[in-house]
Amino acid sequence: MRPWEKNIRQVVPYVPGEQPNQIGMIKLNTNENPYPPAPAVTQAWEELAAENLRLYPDPACQELTQALAEHYQVNPDEVFVGVGSDDVLAMAFLTFFNSGKPILFPDITYSFYDVWADVFRIPYECQPLDENFRIVKEDYKKPNGGVVFPNPNAPTGILQSLSEMEEIVKWNQDVIVIIDEAYIDFGGQSALELIHRYDNVLVVQTFSKSRSMAGMRIGYAFGNRQLIKYLNDVKYSFNSYTMNQPALHLGAAALKDEAYFQETCGKIIATRERVKEELAALGFTFGDSKANFLFVTHEKIAARALYEALKIKKIYVRYFNKPRIDNYLRITIGTDAEMDALLAFLKEYVKEN
Ligand code: PMP
Repeated sequence: MRPWEKNIRQVVPYVPGEQPNQIGMIKLNTNENPYPPAPAVTQAWEELAAENLRLYPDPACQELTQALAEHYQVNPDEVFVGVGSDDVLAMAFLTFFNSGKPILFPDITYSFYDVWADVFRIPYECQPLDENFRIVKEDYKKPNGGVVFPNPNAPTGILQSLSEMEEIVKWNQDVIVIIDEAYIDFGGQSALELIHRYDNVLVVQTFSKSRSMAGMRIGYAFGNRQLIKYLNDVKYSFNSYTMNQPALHLGAAALKDEAYFQETCGKIIATRERVKEELAALGFTFGDSKANFLFVTHEKIAARALYEALKIKKIYVRYFNKPRIDNYLRITIGTDAEMDALLAFLKEYVKEN
């Protein structure tokens, strides 16, 4: 080991899903939306002028925070924005989790939480989900340095009720509770209303899933104005210009098209419910996902082998080689045609194996 190596901030990095780019592939591995962004986004895209890139973007991101505030009926100073919800969550970990006590999150959850905790040297303790992959809320009723979980959870898709969320927030009023709602628009009830009743809750959402804009990297959070101020203080101390000018403009445009948003979310939900029935008929089992993916297992089929077999056919799904979930696959809901191609393959595979 070289002497300087002992001073390195070493981390085991988060591993994002593959981003293959093959002709004819069916990409169901990173929970992207199969439908294009709203027509208002295409129009705003065409109006962008390269000459505007000469100037720095607005560090306060007002065009987007104003649009979000109007859309969600909150004050602009109750909104924080970032480069995808990953950036928002990372800033929130850095800002709020400094007590030295362990933060709490589920054992099966978004696999970035432990990575941020490690990179920021935040101690953490994982709380096991029950056998149905549900959060045991009482596990969050003990001294801790903060709480974070997705609702619906990922990669399980399981939604907890708003009253359960509220109980966890209520029991933890001495710390910040972050509710990561990356998938809330596919059938869940947001905890947004809690920000007006509790000053310790931060609700995080994203344009990557329900608004079909993963490539633009836009995330946001709602919270009490004091929390948002603390988040901005840390953001300005790190990088004042996190959001680029096109992202601010296109994000604001996306919010104008409520009808398109409802229609595409509705299509994904309808496809999800149909695919649930078809997968059940093939012997797959899964929880009642309220997200844009299903987390499935099969008594007679090894998930890893199926993942590899699908990949050969250029159908990409996500496999996690982790305790408790190493015989599961997470399958993003694509278009009806994509899901039909997947189901046709699975029908044959189940027959032969
Ligand atoms: N939270 C959860 C639970 C996720 O699954 C994802 C997607 N990887 C994110 C946050 C981050 O998404 P983005 O940075 O694209 O907003």
